Amino acid sequence: MAKGKKDTGRDPSNKELREAERISNLDRDIQRDHPSAVRADPLKLKHINTYGEIPDFYIDRPFTCRNCGKREIWKAADQKWYYEEAKGHIDAIAVECHDCRIARKNP
Ligand SMILES: [Zn+2]
Repeated sequence: MAKGKKDTGRDPSNKELREAERISNLDRDIQRDHPSAVRADPLKLKHINTYGEIPDFYIDRPFTCRNCGKREIWKAADQKWYYEEAKGHIDAIAVECHDCRIARKNP
């Protein structure tokens, strides 16, 4: 990551993408103890009404934009914000890159 650049997962380098992909394929027990994992706050996840599992941590998630096909990373810290502060649905996953999201909000 370049100095001074906020680590948003936007425009990741190939190295960053490879590392995120490697980590996302690890066992959850190993991910949980990884330095890039971010702890979840179960008290802030009470809005989630699911029979599925409530996450106890977040990990960087590489994804492909469904719109333009660009590879980006949904950062663990951004997932925490999305689920715990924005009260997003737990089944939501990043599907659009930063540029496409901005373009959709500002047509
Ligand atoms: Zn895109």
